[in-house]
Amino acid sequence: MTTGIWILGDRLTIKQLSLQNNQAQKQQTPVIFIESSNYVQQRPYHQQKLVLVWSAMRHFAAELKADNWQVTYKIAADFITPLQDWIAANKITNLQITNPCDRPFLKLIKSLDLDCEITFLPDNHFLWNKDEFITWANSRQRLLMEDFYREGRKRFNILMDGKKPIGGKWNYDKDNRKPPKKNLQTPPSLSFEPDAITQEVIDWVKQEKFSHYGKIEPFNWAVTRQQSQQVLTYFIQESLPQFGTYQDAMIAGEYTMWHSLISPYLNLGLLEPMEVIDAVETAYYQQELPLNSVEGFIRQVMGWREYMHGIYHYQDENYSQNNWFDHHQPLPKFFWDASKTEMNCLRQTLTQVEETAYGHHIQRLMVLSNFALIAGISPQEIENWFHSAFIDAYDWVMQTNVIGMGQFADGGVLASKPYAASANYINKMSDYCGNCQYKKSDRTGERACPFNFFYWDFLHRHRDRLQSLGRMNLVLSHFKRISETELEQISSLAQKWWENQPLS
Ligand code: FAD
Ligand code: SF4
Repeated sequence: MTTGIWILGDRLTIKQLSLQNNQAQKQQTPVIFIESSNYVQQRPYHQQKLVLVWSAMRHFAAELKADNWQVTYKIAADFITPLQDWIAANKITNLQITNPCDRPFLKLIKSLDLDCEITFLPDNHFLWNKDEFITWANSRQRLLMEDFYREGRKRFNILMDGKKPIGGKWNYDKDNRKPPKKNLQTPPSLSFEPDAITQEVIDWVKQEKFSHYGKIEPFNWAVTRQQSQQVLTYFIQESLPQFGTYQDAMIAGEYTMWHSLISPYLNLGLLEPMEVIDAVETAYYQQELPLNSVEGFIRQVMGWREYMHGIYHYQDENYSQNNWFDHHQPLPKFFWDASKTEMNCLRQTLTQVEETAYGHHIQRLMVLSNFALIAGISPQEIENWFHSAFIDAYDWVMQTNVIGMGQFADGGVLASKPYAASANYINKMSDYCGNCQYKKSDRTGERACPFNFFYWDFLHRHRDRLQSLGRMNLVLSHFKRISETELEQISSLAQKWWENQPLS
């Protein structure tokens, strides 16, 4: 029997079981990497995403080769032809693949007509595997992230003092999420000059014109495990102490604030979740860092990330088609071209995404996704846009974050109420409104902020449904203070906005 290993583009780690299990006979074990140009045509991926994934694959392949694995690297139209040739040439009888995280990719692999047996090995890249999460979920009446997170803290003994949480509380959010102050000095992000491999990929992506979306250069992302570890170390030294306090703040021109920028590397397998958590916990003890920041950050990785992955597998594949509010508006053109909107919050955020393929959580949730929700854009259209535009996007993390958290299209599987907000929130948490041609406090009138009339129109259109959630009653009680005439003006503004909107 000859075993061959296919390394998937988002599992770039020596720790995956296929490599671990065959370590002793690595010189005789064929390993293949495939860049498929057809596969990336399914949506207009940000050009930096293509560069990151392919450069990281090429770097990892080179590392395995240098470590005496028998590596084949193919650049091809599809997956099937290079796989068939390689299987025949190496007389492979058993193909080992790490179980793909994304359902569509698993389906694709299963549809390939290969002349050998396929073994899917468990993906050991999350702290909780699918079955463990499902067992946890089945034992609960409610699927609250906070409950899951506490379970994780206990299970892995992170920030614990015996059976109690360090500091006496599980959650320090009360001390976090401060609005931005004037003249905040944010740390510059660590950037990496493209080496010869990365430059080759940049030139290839430019030449082939796989997608026109996003600026390809400057390309500053890490592309190896070693560089990803540097990003983590830099984050802990420079940004972690302030991470919690300004976690939700947004400032024009400040792209990363105190965020870590590690999601692309975690999602590719270049960093492991537990090594991130361990490094942050160690820094907490050694450097006496503020607990609100340390706990807040660990909650992101140990709580939110694991929970989103778990829920993706707990739900079936129809989850992606959910549309609780029955929203069907198409995506406005400006999502693909930031210069086409005068809304400063959207223009700033979309420009940043075009330049870097990155936005931090609140820009994603409370600017981009919030706008799509209140304007009534189809959840599937906005999900497709997020999946195309972001450097760290994959099916498993998209469904839950966009369909679930951002659009509430699942009717409350993972959020107890929709993340919908007017200009009030954006103005409180950013400096965007100060330089906007719209009036942040107006919901009607010529210069009314679209976030305002869409917000109230959204609440009005879905009043009955929202009432059934219970948690929206306080917000809905504000309708008492809005006259019928004003409601009509609001709804007419929302309608007119769509009539004048170029669509993609
Ligand atoms: P930090 O703020 O420094 O947080 C640390 C880490 O926590 C992140 O790197 C990430 O691994 C993890 N994390 C925190 N929240 C989440 C979450 N909700 N889901 C998964 N991981 C989380 N995350 C992605 O990895 N890929 C995506 O495509 C993606 N799309 C999103 C779309 C929407 C609408 C929303 C609301 C969130 C999305 N997120 C996504 C989650 C989160 O916004 C990003 O993980 C985070 O902004 C990445 O930047 P960072 O590494 O600087 O994060
Ligand atoms: Fe955005 Fe409205 Fe503020 Fe302008 S006024 S930045 S559109 S929230």
